Amino acid sequence: MNGKTDIIVVGTGAAGLFYALNIPPSKEILMITKRAVDESDSYLAQGGICVLRDEDDYDSFFEDTMKAGHYENDRASVDVMIRSSPEIITDLIDLGVAFEKKNGELAYTREGAHSRARILYHEDLTGKEITSKLLTQVKQRPNITIIENMAMVDLICQDNRCSGVVASDGTGAIHLYYSDYVVLATGGLGGLFHSSTNLAHLTGDAIAIALKRQIELENISYIQIHPTTLYSQKPGRRFLISESVRGEGAVLYNRKMQRFVDELLPRDLLTKAIHEQMEQEESDFVWLSMQDMGAEVITHRFPNIYQHCLEEGYDITRECIPVTPAQHYFMGGIKVDLDSLTSMAHLYAIGEISCNRVHGANRLASNSLLESLVFAKRAAKDTLDHYEIIKVHQATLDLDDYQNLEQLRRDYKTIILDEIERSKVIERIDKA
Ligand SMILES: Cc1cc2nc3c(=O)[nH]c(=O)nc-3n(C[C@H](O)[C@H](O)[C@H](O)COP(=O)(O)OP(=O)(O)OC[C@H]3O[C@@H](n4cnc5c(N)ncnc54)[C@H](O)[C@@H]3O)c2cc1C
Repeated sequence: MNGKTDIIVVGTGAAGLFYALNIPPSKEILMITKRAVDESDSYLAQGGICVLRDEDDYDSFFEDTMKAGHYENDRASVDVMIRSSPEIITDLIDLGVAFEKKNGELAYTREGAHSRARILYHEDLTGKEITSKLLTQVKQRPNITIIENMAMVDLICQDNRCSGVVASDGTGAIHLYYSDYVVLATGGLGGLFHSSTNLAHLTGDAIAIALKRQIELENISYIQIHPTTLYSQKPGRRFLISESVRGEGAVLYNRKMQRFVDELLPRDLLTKAIHEQMEQEESDFVWLSMQDMGAEVITHRFPNIYQHCLEEGYDITRECIPVTPAQHYFMGGIKVDLDSLTSMAHLYAIGEISCNRVHGANRLASNSLLESLVFAKRAAKDTLDHYEIIKVHQATLDLDDYQNLEQLRRDYKTIILDEIERSKVIERIDKA
């Protein structure tokens, strides 16, 4: 199918789906996604989603976010995210999302670097609960079409204005989709790394395309390593052991079974301490113990982690598990303003691929789903407030450039990794 629609959304994670739900049925939306519709990192989120509990919580939520981000966060972005959080949670509940409750009231948990319990959750499958409910709603909207296994390989643009997407269905067929607006919601770039908690197909393609099309990027060397993933010698995605496990009392041990660190440090500091410990011991992992929580709490609160570890041969109610840091999150990305508009007209970026500097140099746990939803909703509002129809000019593209997908993937990977290295050098010079 080649044709024109009103809005194209690239990516069907929480950000893309929530954007689409915030656009009225009068606008036609085409969503494309590289794999199956439910293959997104949003489905994998375990720990939860932050919310401002009450006015008294504002200062400490703000400070926790800034401190975790090494005060490199954009203060206005942080303020918008925190202030919008109660409204977003109400939206989610209205859309059918079920958060854990105690005595009829919402239950809150705590994770590393949070000074207060302010995280809503659904077992240890919060991402699946939220994203599957968003997807159910999207599927009921007649104005939204989803095409699976369709990868964006380029943007159609002219004079710094975006008017569509070049996509490949993997069979060698190239599709040109034109639209008034394009929204990039393509998630992170963990698939570029040997060891990551992300799905392998999330390779930051939009970053390579942005570089090619001179769209501004921000902080692209800011890549978060999660301190605790289940150590395994098998290849493939690393299984995350959520921060909320430590928030609920799990502890870390070195080889001598001694605690060596405050388990609730921000992610980057804890990762550093674990790496130092592993180096000292010449080991590939440290130990994590959940036993003191008791079997009932473990199996009720963390059923997914319990089950996965059991399948890997560890009974976490009775024994420690080996854990090691792995790539987890991308704080940098395509530079956007508070309404998620990029430096290119008619092009928005939302979710993990975007960077409004809300996370600064390091993301606070459970701020990511929240950020994705808050700024997706703002992007939708901004699209509608400034809606302008584009007269389509047929793109002058050489489609041969996209025929060899494997080569294109390798090229994009090299482009991104080189840019990350270049950006690290500039950062070092800036800080010297
Ligand atoms: C294991 C794990 C646990 C996490 N736990 C939490 C948590 O507890 N709380 C929290 O706040 N955050 C958590 N996060 C982070 C959070 O899940 C993500 O940052 C967030 O869901 C990103 O949403 P998104 O919509 O931007 O991207 P995603 O949900 O990753 O969706 C990206 C979409 O883009 C599509 N796509 C990518 N490239 C292309 C392309 N070239 N063409 C077409 N489609 C493309 C993908 O197929 C996918 O549909 C966790 C992440 C992981 C990996």
